[in-house]
Amino acid sequence: MTGYDPDFGDFRPTPPVSFELFPPRTDAAALALGRAIDRLAEVDPAFMSVTFGAGGSSRDRSLTVLRHLLEHTDVEPMAHLTCVGSSHAEANRLVREFLDAGVTSFLALRGDPPAGADPDAGIGDLESAAELVQLIHRVQEEREPFGQAGVPGVPGGSRILERPRPELVAVAAYPNGHPRSRGLDHDVDVLLAKEVAGSNLAITQLFWRADDYLGFVERARAGGVTMPILPGVMPVTSPTRLARLQELTGVPAPEELSVALAIEPDADAQFELGVDFAARLADEVVAGGAPGLHLYTFNRHEAVLAVLDRLGLLTPAPAGIERNTRTS
Ligand code: FAD
Repeated sequence: MTGYDPDFGDFRPTPPVSFELFPPRTDAAALALGRAIDRLAEVDPAFMSVTFGAGGSSRDRSLTVLRHLLEHTDVEPMAHLTCVGSSHAEANRLVREFLDAGVTSFLALRGDPPAGADPDAGIGDLESAAELVQLIHRVQEEREPFGQAGVPGVPGGSRILERPRPELVAVAAYPNGHPRSRGLDHDVDVLLAKEVAGSNLAITQLFWRADDYLGFVERARAGGVTMPILPGVMPVTSPTRLARLQELTGVPAPEELSVALAIEPDADAQFELGVDFAARLADEVVAGGAPGLHLYTFNRHEAVLAVLDRLGLLTPAPAGIERNTRTS
């Protein structure tokens, strides 16, 4: 397990950045995503993660995006996987399938039960992300118990290599608490359990105030969590998307941004508002010690690259990015 290594070479932005993508549903969306990936890859991110639809609904499409990253970029692909509703055998097969495709970094998630299901009822064999983290390590070990290499100068000789392990086994963290959590301490306990199970990176749910993230990290450290906790930041450039995110995450949208986006009719001006808000937030968490920035892209490059530009992190600037202007 290599852990999250902040030493990324000459051209990687400091702090390192990473991006989240989701699998497209149409051919047109796939083409647009391909173009966005090209632009995002120029920033040399630490990794790009690809979401996984509830209950495995996007498995094939997620794999297609991950394979595209492997075959057409130098970016480390990270597969989100969910386990709720899976039997041990199904989860085992799923992890094996992604490892076989060449993916070695994962974001292990419990996932949400299907709408209408009793969220407290046990569904499937795996009940938490921590169990999936353990399973990922176990499958990897069973799949390749050890590697062998020849010994120079010794015909027929071989030596056992260190077992190839998943690069990153990341997990989710909730600065404002998971909607079903019993309290913020409970979220820290769950995060610690995931680290003990073998995760080496946490990525946070969206949050809107730097103090929410920084306070959570402080509580997590006091609770014994040592792995890096990457803040998840999304530039939100439309009032409808902001309202939808509030619905999805249960985290109340920031009043200041909600009002500003609602009263601003011009799309370009809304874009600037969303980028400004996200850039300020990112700047504050980095100043507070965040080990990197994980940017939710919504499969578009313009807003996230504009955020990085505001932060002075596009050096050298990728082709076609004009400084401090909207890119499209
Ligand atoms: P766990 O780590 O197992 O639990 C985390 C917290 O949720 C704990 O506080 C735990 O007690 C509480 N919790 C979870 N379920 C229950 C329950 N039934 N009863 C009581 N408490 C509960 N979902 C997807 O489907 N696909 C994705 O690709 C995806 N990507 C994500 C990426 C990030 C960075 C984040 C933050 C979330 C993502 N999710 C995704 C959402 C995630 O699956 C849900 O939030 C899910 O409810 C909890 O998953 P977990 O891995 O955090 O669960």
